[in-house]
Amino acid sequence: MSSKYRLALIAHDQKKDDMVAFVEAHRPYLAGCALFATGTTGQRILEACPELDLQRLKSGPLGGDQQIGALISEGMVDALIFFVDPLTPMPHDVDVKALTRLAIVYDIPMALNRATGEIMLKARETG
Ligand code: PGA
Repeated sequence: MSSKYRLALIAHDQKKDDMVAFVEAHRPYLAGCALFATGTTGQRILEACPELDLQRLKSGPLGGDQQIGALISEGMVDALIFFVDPLTPMPHDVDVKALTRLAIVYDIPMALNRATGEIMLKARETG
């Protein structure tokens, strides 16, 4: 069984450029992780960094957030980095709430913006 750190990455549409820049900034560390991402987020990351070990799930509005929640509940994800857009109404708002709830229930590290994501990965990179 892989001992790689398992990280889930999600970004809402207005935050996808930020997510790609974030992943590029941490590319050497993330190259050693097992990544999960919702469909479009994963596609954008792989276009920029095709060498990453990244499993794409469904797009968020089509169930991808729920798939990541299910992986968390099964102990398959060590941490969640989710760049949330707080300024745009979304049809899958309830899925976002359910996912963040599960990250709390299973007590995994969860970053909901880039500033916290930077702290989280810096701790991994230097720890
Ligand atoms: P996406 O989903 O990566 O497929 O855009 C993210 C979301 O909106 O939850």
